[in-house]
Amino acid sequence: MEFKELGKSAQKIPVLGLGTWGIGGFSTRYLGGGDEEGVRALKLGIELEMRFIDTAEMYAGGHSEEVVAKAVKSQRKEVFIATKVSPEHLHYDDVLKSCESSLGRLETNYIDLYQVHWPNPSTPIAETMKAMEHLAAEGKIRHIGVSNFSVRQTREAQEALSKSSLASNQVEYSLLDRSIETGLLPYAEKEHITIIAYSPIAKGEIPKGRRGQRWQTLDEIASKYGRTRSQVALNWLIAKKPVVAIPKAASLNHIRENAGGAGWQMSKQDRDKLSEAFH
Ligand code: NAP
Repeated sequence: MEFKELGKSAQKIPVLGLGTWGIGGFSTRYLGGGDEEGVRALKLGIELEMRFIDTAEMYAGGHSEEVVAKAVKSQRKEVFIATKVSPEHLHYDDVLKSCESSLGRLETNYIDLYQVHWPNPSTPIAETMKAMEHLAAEGKIRHIGVSNFSVRQTREAQEALSKSSLASNQVEYSLLDRSIETGLLPYAEKEHITIIAYSPIAKGEIPKGRRGQRWQTLDEIASKYGRTRSQVALNWLIAKKPVVAIPKAASLNHIRENAGGAGWQMSKQDRDKLSEAFH
């Protein structure tokens, strides 16, 4: 696995992590099957060095965090855990309360990266960031991040921090959703803010057997490197300086495949060809 520095810090994080939306969710809780599938998938991801798990208090009503705890167990120090506070909990006291609850469900005494899940214009970001810095001072969180923030909102969050710097912004980014490229991506690169790309294989759309010119280009490049569509799509993302990606997979074969998105490089020419094809 390759690593990148998180934001301006010396903390290294794997370029590919593990998403958890849907893990511990409706189907496993109510339709049988328990948590085993999710735990197994995350454990395999950890074994394959994708030691960066992204979850949220919102996922499966907090149950995803409990599944993460089961998967991580004694390996806590080796796994970088990121979770998120929901937009309805952004007032000072609510942030502290949410963090305590997440710590409990994650069975840990610190969160590596605590992220504001979505901006909420009805709560001043300065109030939220004050709570975040309080948590950091208490050692309950190691790094502060945001998610789904525009350039303007990111700048406001940065400016609201007095003792720390904003580590990351988690946003949708894939070959099929390039919207951050016109503003947020160059801004993040300039400001040394890590972009955590969510839905990096477009919720499973990229590996599906679609036809057409752009898909043919993707398939040609995949076959040139002896890789799959998902691996190429992930590799294209992490080749960008500030970007790491968090594909989610419950299937063990998908986890294995996604881990192979790192550890090799496409030529610049092929990356450009893909960018052009999916423009
Ligand atoms: P994604 O990772 O792009 O795609 C996940 C889907 O693709 C799943 O259905 C998965 O199936 C399938 N898949 C995974 N690897 C595959 C492969 N190699 N071949 C074929 N299919 C594959 O989408 P996502 O779950 O939306 O995003 C990833 C993570 O980002 C989430 O889990 C969550 O942690 C985070 N996220 C954050 C936000 C936010 O607002 N901050 C929003 C959305 C997502 P199986 O599960 O059956 O293996």
